[in-house]
Amino acid sequence: MKTYPYLIFPLLGLLVVSCKSPSVKISADFDKGSIGNMTETNSNHLSGSTQHWLKRDGIGDQYYWFYFKADQVKNKRVIFELKDLKGVYRETPHIVYTDYTQPVYSYDQKHWKRIKNVKYDTSTYTFVFSERFEEEPVWIAYAHPYPTSRLDELLEKVKSSEYAKISKLARTKEKRDISLVHITDHETPAEDKKNILILALQHAGEDAGGFMAEGIIQFLLSEAKEAVSARARFNYFIVPMMNPDGIFNGTSRYNMKMEDLNNIWLEDDKKQPEVTGLKNWADSWLSAGNDIDLFIDIHNHTQFHQYNVFIFQDHELDSLVTIMDKFWPIRIWHSEFKGSSCSYFYGRDIPSGTIELSQSHLGDGNYLTIEDYLSFGKGAVLALNEFYFD
Ligand SMILES: [Zn+2]
Repeated sequence: MKTYPYLIFPLLGLLVVSCKSPSVKISADFDKGSIGNMTETNSNHLSGSTQHWLKRDGIGDQYYWFYFKADQVKNKRVIFELKDLKGVYRETPHIVYTDYTQPVYSYDQKHWKRIKNVKYDTSTYTFVFSERFEEEPVWIAYAHPYPTSRLDELLEKVKSSEYAKISKLARTKEKRDISLVHITDHETPAEDKKNILILALQHAGEDAGGFMAEGIIQFLLSEAKEAVSARARFNYFIVPMMNPDGIFNGTSRYNMKMEDLNNIWLEDDKKQPEVTGLKNWADSWLSAGNDIDLFIDIHNHTQFHQYNVFIFQDHELDSLVTIMDKFWPIRIWHSEFKGSSCSYFYGRDIPSGTIELSQSHLGDGNYLTIEDYLSFGKGAVLALNEFYFD
């Protein structure tokens, strides 16, 4: 009888341990993964922050992208609390989260659903979201991720097309290639072809732009009759991923030298291989007597507005907005601000525009999907066909 208390307490302890759910495990050491410290403050309640990235000159703090894997979540409702969601952009406070922000989750990193249970506290810059998970592990991201591996798979397919040629423009700090995809019907003589240069993913956390560029490439290589005529009448030059180092490491904006690629096109003292490579290509294309008829730089704005924006200063492009409006599932607005890549081409008398895609909702309660982002690419090709030739 003397041994009884010594026996019962360890047994009770075992019972308590076995009833407590195993703690949620968070990791982000994969292509495009990124998260700050997260701790489980209560059972199934994780609290922490995203990773903040400070710009090379100290004037810039980009913080909004996150993409992590959570394990030991099956059959649990897990609450995630991200604090300190406030940064600096162009020396002014930068806040992108709202109650419209819906992160995405996936059990296979391919099929994504939105997390609808969200709340953003504007006074503390804290974003709280929760979801009940049926499987594990689960991957959770600010928005549909476009990792470097997705581009690698796309380029593998593109390589075998008779209509595409891939060249390398530059190597990054971390030895990744910047690829340029040239699509046309190489059998058709070049004289009358329009030359379109399209750039995506200068900013690493603007992933929908990568899907739009992929949508352009996929559609141009298809056998649809509009694709056949586009190949006969255009040279498409597409850089689908301008910032692979930033993408791989999950920065919100910068490359791995912590430079903002879209701000340095006119500043030679800040040159980076990604930008220099494309400038050199454009210079040699132009100095060989060729034209660039249009330059388009694809970005994303927030998860707030239900419209895309097309930003340009050349009023000859006004009707392009009207035409794109017909082919896109959300409205398009015209604005007149321009980034330094557009200024660079505009300075060479090349009509230039920035597209800022929304990653948000359609206005009817439904949120944009990867299919929608891909359809922006197809819509752009259809619109350019009509703009130049109908
Ligand atoms: Zn951008």
